[in-house]
Amino acid sequence: MTIHVQPVVRPEACPALVLNADFRPLSYYPLSIWCWQDAIKAVFLDRVNIVSEYDKVVRSPTFEIRLPSVISLKTYVKPSRHPAFTRFNVFLRDRFTCQYCGAREDLTFDHVIPRSKGGQTTWENVVAACAPCNLKKADRLPREVEMWPRQNPFAPTVHDLHSNGRLFPPNYLHDSWLDYLYWDSELEP
Ligand SMILES: [Zn+2]
Repeated sequence: MTIHVQPVVRPEACPALVLNADFRPLSYYPLSIWCWQDAIKAVFLDRVNIVSEYDKVVRSPTFEIRLPSVISLKTYVKPSRHPAFTRFNVFLRDRFTCQYCGAREDLTFDHVIPRSKGGQTTWENVVAACAPCNLKKADRLPREVEMWPRQNPFAPTVHDLHSNGRLFPPNYLHDSWLDYLYWDSELEP
């Protein structure tokens, strides 16, 4: 019996970083990355330019193409000034720091006004909190336990998250992306 070993092409591990037409990421938080299928589709629809490629190739009976690692939109899209309300972005706003004791480990989320007391899941009411503080505060109001967030929770701008993001580089970035991620103050006119 012969086992045919596929060449090591794992396209699913090859996302493409998507840049706007000005060569800045379309979005930072979350970072704009598309799966390879969407990237290739956009190439064929002529909506993007390929800026950089992986070594990996995908083939069909009629074509063969190296997977793009960085693509840029042909048409500029005005970026949103308001980042999405996500768990990651709450952590980033709070600089991955418990808003009650300053711990940086074992982080969870706390509703400043507990949900059971009508607190909403919004930028203005959710903060990063370490598990021990969360446990201690439990289902009570800040004044009941004398635990106040270090900063009043607020809806950040993209700029706020950018400033904090530079302190916390993402865990995994493909080499070809790095040139497009850290541009800021140095290159800005
Ligand atoms: Zn804490």
